[in-house]
Amino acid sequence: MKKGLYIHIPFCKSRCHYCHFISIADPGPDVRRRFFNCLFRELDHARAEHGAIEFDTIYFGGGTPSLLTEDEMTEIVNRIRAAFGVRPGAEITCEWNPGDGDEEKLRAFSALGANRISLGAQSFRDDILQRLGRRHTAHDTIVTLDRIRGAGITNVSLDLMLRLPGQTVVDFRDSLCRAVGLGVSQVSLYDLEIHEETVFGRMQREQKLDLPAEQVHAAMYEAAIRTLTGAGYEHYEISNFARPGFASRHNLIYWRNEEYLGLGPGSFSYLAGVRSGFAHDLEGYFRKCETGEWTNDVEDVLSEEDKETESFTMRLRLCGGAAPSRFPVLYERIKDRARELLDGGFLEWAGDSLRLTTRGKFLSEDVFGFLLRKE
Ligand code: SF4
Repeated sequence: MKKGLYIHIPFCKSRCHYCHFISIADPGPDVRRRFFNCLFRELDHARAEHGAIEFDTIYFGGGTPSLLTEDEMTEIVNRIRAAFGVRPGAEITCEWNPGDGDEEKLRAFSALGANRISLGAQSFRDDILQRLGRRHTAHDTIVTLDRIRGAGITNVSLDLMLRLPGQTVVDFRDSLCRAVGLGVSQVSLYDLEIHEETVFGRMQREQKLDLPAEQVHAAMYEAAIRTLTGAGYEHYEISNFARPGFASRHNLIYWRNEEYLGLGPGSFSYLAGVRSGFAHDLEGYFRKCETGEWTNDVEDVLSEEDKETESFTMRLRLCGGAAPSRFPVLYERIKDRARELLDGGFLEWAGDSLRLTTRGKFLSEDVFGFLLRKE
């Protein structure tokens, strides 16, 4: 079984209008130091609790890990390597915002082992980026991609968002074509979600948010499938397309329901059948790490049925689907509903596995809700 390590870096230069991730804008040096001290205490605690886990993947997410200085990144990587094992050839990903850092910094991160960058392009339309409250332009994305490659990192995944205010199918298709033209190894799609506490949440309450209609949203998703698979990308997960051999190894750990350790505020771990979240906000994180209060905010001990359900759902997200024969107890309970979904064109058979159709992928949350609802 593969194991992944996720590190959450809760800093950003400014807040995007849709963002609900745990992150603070423009923290000063004292807050940054306080965070690293806490992170290292949490890391030492995890080492004492779980032993010297050997990781196959490491993922720096956030927030904005591209705001880490070389010294900060060096200290984190050294601490990880001192406490845990990192398998040879491990995939080490760092999320990067276009416009951040120069080639020298990217070279330094690469020398520390980073071999994959997830680049938050979101769109290639500057007016849309501005509306999102992003700090970068389409030109910044192109320049940053050149720098990443100049630093010797060739495995680059690019994020694109859909269902954005004022976005049309033509805009979105244009962004897809730009991503393909840039030859990135993966494209990840993100539907805009509106969260109450954000700028967009307020705008929606005031009825000032002009979101594309559902049919337009569906047409964007179909355009993504057509454009990306037509260009040779494999549609390996509902929202992810990769060139052969470049599917995100870290995210596959989540989708295969394998084990991972999450460090930093808001991150989750799944180890020895227990899903846990240590602290769900930054203040709570500081307080708990500083006082050594190592109780989890969330802790679910998964029953065998829970584990089957999670594995089945996660597997359904992948293009290969899930073989009911591997989930006999669960499948006995849901087989009538699976049949309804097959008849409705939301699921299909691929050999002896069930998988989502294109329609099923677009409505995946509804499909999972229907399939797994408790009687
Ligand atoms: S850069 Fe990412 S984490 Fe930071 S505010 Fe924007 S969306 Fe949120």
